[in-house]
Amino acid sequence: MRFGQREAEVLPRWRAGDRFASSTLSSTLAASPIAGVSAILAGLAASWIATYLLGGARQVVPHFYYVPILFAAVRFGPVAALVTALASGVLAGPLTYLDVAGQTPQETARWVTRTVFFTTIGVAMAALVRPSLPSIGAGIRHRRDARALREALAAGELFVRYQPIVWLNSGRLHSVEALVRWNHPQRGELGPGEFLDAAEASGAIRDLDAFVFEQACRQAVRWKGLAEHRGAAPPRVTVNLSRANLEAPDLIGQLRDTLQSTGADPSQICLEVTESLLIDDLEVSAARLAGLKSLGVRLAIDDFGNGYSSLSALDHFPIDVLKVDRAFLRRATGSTDASNLIGGIALLARSLDVTLIAEGVETLDQRDALIYTGYEIAQGFLYARPLLTDDIDELIDTGHIPETADPTRPRRHTSVLLPDAHSPHQ
Ligand code: C2E
Ligand code: MG
Ligand code: MG
Repeated sequence: MRFGQREAEVLPRWRAGDRFASSTLSSTLAASPIAGVSAILAGLAASWIATYLLGGARQVVPHFYYVPILFAAVRFGPVAALVTALASGVLAGPLTYLDVAGQTPQETARWVTRTVFFTTIGVAMAALVRPSLPSIGAGIRHRRDARALREALAAGELFVRYQPIVWLNSGRLHSVEALVRWNHPQRGELGPGEFLDAAEASGAIRDLDAFVFEQACRQAVRWKGLAEHRGAAPPRVTVNLSRANLEAPDLIGQLRDTLQSTGADPSQICLEVTESLLIDDLEVSAARLAGLKSLGVRLAIDDFGNGYSSLSALDHFPIDVLKVDRAFLRRATGSTDASNLIGGIALLARSLDVTLIAEGVETLDQRDALIYTGYEIAQGFLYARPLLTDDIDELIDTGHIPETADPTRPRRHTSVLLPDAHSPHQ
């Protein structure tokens, strides 16, 4: 699916008038402050000139002034509407002849009454449109971001970082998670939190996920070669899947094509789906996951425990990995109940025969709590931040985590070593 196509599909078939009103409102709101003020000044000047050229206020009622007044109301709100209306009152009053040819001034009562109309309508308009402005503004931002994202993808500004996932007992590499980044020309490196919403709202997420999946497959092939050369087990590469992708009818075919074209070994790839995407309809979700499993990849439930308790649902799903949300871990240290909870999840994982990964390990206390409650694998800043491919190469090649991972952390906690050829590769 192309960018923007989904937008066009979901928009109702508006009448031409509605479309015109909506696009006018959108472009008004989208104007920058400088462009907005310039448009108001230009509107006032054009209104004065038009009234003058048409022979003065006797020949033409100066309705032109409503254009800059309404623009100011929508773009800047009631205060700007009031100021523009007062300026219009003066321009259309003492500064405009009643009759240009005769150079007759206007009566005060006439232009004061008109000024009252201008201000009342301007302020009322601002009050009326204000409540709907945030949602219109958000829509504009999303469209703008989606367009920028499409251009970024085409310009090669998106790239993937890989965060190591490690064995707790040895600090050796278990797998890596592919996490998308945007190398923005003005704003620097952006995390997904800054653009995923726009990508999801516009449908651009499908292209984004396809890009990340292909990159991850290519790296998986490279890392397999590197690791085998070193006599180590190749790290698995896990990739996040969005709702739009999970629900796309052509997803399986696309993934299969990418696996084939890159030559990636499906068993080295793991797809992560957040728990919240699976609770709507258990049967449908289970069928979708079974379709993915048929590719030969592994499946993980991401952010497990994040607001939903679908423990019973887990049994329905053909999953291999359970990633426990970092919110659990944050609460686990210092609270017996919370630490019982993460222990309970460990028991659950064992009974379901799935691999358990704790997300967001930041401190040694958290690591100790995990080991104590039976966890074996973890991901978190304590071990490494999301890294560049070269850093992962180096990890596989030399067994040392590069300084770039987190220079603020004491060296003794940064040991991520070679993939362990002797560990059972879960
Ligand atoms: P996630 O899949 O749960 O990925 C883990 C997130 O937690 C990453 O954030 C990672 O940097 C962060 N993290 C890891 N360890 C720690 C830690 O110890 N402390 C803290 N505070 N954070 C930690 P990131 O890269 O910002 O990604 C956020 C979310 O964006 C991901 O959560 C995932 O849901 C989504 N995402 C990332 N890349 C992609 C992608 O390519 N496609 C899709 N659909 N979603 C993606
Ligand atoms: Mg994830
Ligand atoms: Mg997660």
